[in-house]
Amino acid sequence: MPRFGTWWLSERLYWKKIRVTCECGVMRQYDAKALFDRIGDRSMPALLGEISAAIGCEKSANVYRDRCKLTYEMPPGELSASRH
Ligand SMILES: [Zn+2]
Repeated sequence: MPRFGTWWLSERLYWKKIRVTCECGVMRQYDAKALFDRIGDRSMPALLGEISAAIGCEKSANVYRDRCKLTYEMPPGELSASRH
């Protein structure tokens, strides 16, 4: 079940691969389990911010406008990274 309205990495390990894309052209793929072992559990939105920073997107520090558009590439059948 989602905690606090967001999904957590521990709930998404079955994806096997965490794929992210950004309109700035960045595409990355992470092994879900390796990521979990390395950084521990994270909410998916928080994880996205960390990945953005790790990638070094120049917009990752922008919080209010012109934000990094990094997003999860959802596996088929998944609708959203967060549910409310
Ligand atoms: Zn970006």
